[in-house]
Amino acid sequence: MQIRTVSSTESVDETRLAEVLANPGFGKYFTDHMLRIEWTPDAGWHDARIEPYGPLSLDPATAVLHYAQETFEGMKAYRHEDGSIWSFRPEENAARMVRSNHRLALPALDVPDFVQAVDALVTVDQRWVPDPAGEKSLYIRPFMFASEAFLGVRPAQHVTFMVIASPAGAYFKGGIKPVTLWLTEEYTRAGRGGMGAAKTGGNYASSLIAQQEATSQGCDQVVFLDGQEGKYIEELGGMNMYFVYDDGHIVTPDSDTILEGITRASIIELAGKLGHQVEERKITIDEWRDGVASGRIAEIFACGTAAVVTPVGALKWAGGEIPAAHVSGEVTMEIRNALVDVQYGRSEDMFGWMHRIV
Ligand SMILES: *Cc1c(COP(=O)(O)O)cnc(C)c1O
Repeated sequence: MQIRTVSSTESVDETRLAEVLANPGFGKYFTDHMLRIEWTPDAGWHDARIEPYGPLSLDPATAVLHYAQETFEGMKAYRHEDGSIWSFRPEENAARMVRSNHRLALPALDVPDFVQAVDALVTVDQRWVPDPAGEKSLYIRPFMFASEAFLGVRPAQHVTFMVIASPAGAYFKGGIKPVTLWLTEEYTRAGRGGMGAAKTGGNYASSLIAQQEATSQGCDQVVFLDGQEGKYIEELGGMNMYFVYDDGHIVTPDSDTILEGITRASIIELAGKLGHQVEERKITIDEWRDGVASGRIAEIFACGTAAVVTPVGALKWAGGEIPAAHVSGEVTMEIRNALVDVQYGRSEDMFGWMHRIV
């Protein structure tokens, strides 16, 4: 794929960049450029270019604004100690986007083109990839949307793929602390045959009211149950879950309606290598409650690209509450450190997960 580059004439100066990278937060600052590729049924994917970062001009009838035909990805570029820049399993993000696009009736962007697009933007904006100290990284957001201006209901005939990037600080400032969870029994995030397994904005839109409820209950995040029976653990709004049992084995919920995280999949392999038996199976909310009460469940954690691995603390629901399971969080931290060490190049990349960009 040919990608042309129109360089920004208003790139952020070094002093300002240093200020931003010292304290980037999350999703607040964007790099100097963005990547864009257009699609039409006749021309296929075409006109790939990197251009100065800036606002889009959209017709008010642009289909995505009305019918939410949209998918996205979330990944990171990590700077290693020697200055090189790497991404983590980018082909997995690319392949997942193909699956999400299929569900949203969007065209597939080939895996190598996706990876090339991400690499190209990160290369152009490489000075925005922070130093590894304090677990900083460059968060990368590829996304695709129905850009045709048309109010009829059908898959769009003009689609735009974009990549933007934003420096990210450590998810946990001042140390890792458990997230408290609100169990919503009113809302679900996905139903049978729905979009639960696709990474699409609509799933996030539907999770916001439950997240609002969580916040008003003093909790950090919301946990969803399955839409059919309302008893199996699914996931958080944007993170998958793991339960560590007192004998060291680990369970992660199995479901057709969760978004299967690349972090989740990587932990299945990594934890196995670390000597833990890993099971993907259904787990009920009662097993959670009883397991914490009896001590059978020793630790609980959630995982995703942004936070990597975060310990789960207390669980609250309408009319009840259970405390955190973790005694020490030992296994959680063992897995977290093992993963982060691979991502930052501090330990051997046993699985060939890292992809060099610069
Ligand atoms: C992106 C996402 C995750 C985590 O996936 P990773 O690939 O590990 O970042 C989990 N749940 C939902 C709903 C998501 O959108």
